[in-house]
Amino acid sequence: MIRIKKLLLLFISAAFVFSCTTEDVDKRDTGKSANLKLTGSSGADLLSDMVFTSMNIEIVYADGNRPTSEAIDIFQNFLESRVYKPDGIKINLRSVQPSGLSPFTEDDLKAVEEETRTLYNVGDEIAVWIYFADGEKEEESDDLVTLGTAFRNTSIIIYEKTIKDFASRNGAPPRAIIEASTLNHEFGHLFGLVDLGIDPVSDHEDPEKEGHCDTDGCLMRASIEFGSGVVNGITGGGVPELDDACIQDLQSIGGK
Ligand SMILES: [Zn+2]
Ligand SMILES: [Zn+2]
Repeated sequence: MIRIKKLLLLFISAAFVFSCTTEDVDKRDTGKSANLKLTGSSGADLLSDMVFTSMNIEIVYADGNRPTSEAIDIFQNFLESRVYKPDGIKINLRSVQPSGLSPFTEDDLKAVEEETRTLYNVGDEIAVWIYFADGEKEEESDDLVTLGTAFRNTSIIIYEKTIKDFASRNGAPPRAIIEASTLNHEFGHLFGLVDLGIDPVSDHEDPEKEGHCDTDGCLMRASIEFGSGVVNGITGGGVPELDDACIQDLQSIGGK
């Protein structure tokens, strides 16, 4: 039994790889340019109320890939706990036709955003676009499973098909927990974690996983061991939280 748990732990930790990519800033000169910048470059704008006093998040999902309400609630609570937006954080969900582009390349992501994103920064409101995809990421190797990607400064894609496949496996955490963990983790990259757009207060970037935290159990670990949730089955195993080092980073640029 112990051996099975260990195997499960290994398997799960290997499977949960979050990815974050950055890309060149788009040179197009449109009203959208403020939302087409590098990942992590708008952390202060997202966290503080210095420039933007409210946040408007549009979650677009390909038909059949709507995230669970439980995950959205956890995600909203995570934002409320870290972000100063006195005029509120709005999250609205909307379905679109499946793109048929899976497996997604970087160019595919840009194309889907161009086609389905409707909200951009306006006045003192900052806009974020999150896409729940009808498919998976194009991987460089077979044993890599990516659940989400933060690309640009206010854009996230969640590979919902991959999450559903994973959640259906024996011993895996519930789908809502995986969705919420992925959402919170990718939003951590938009905040600028780790070392993406924030000068770290203390040195906690994983030397082997760029952009990620080296503290065991932190939300910003590159691979999150949901296996510990399996071992602590009595408590159900929840969404990982940020460690003190990551929270200090957010506070250093205006977060809670
Ligand atoms: Zn990541
Ligand atoms: Zn951390």
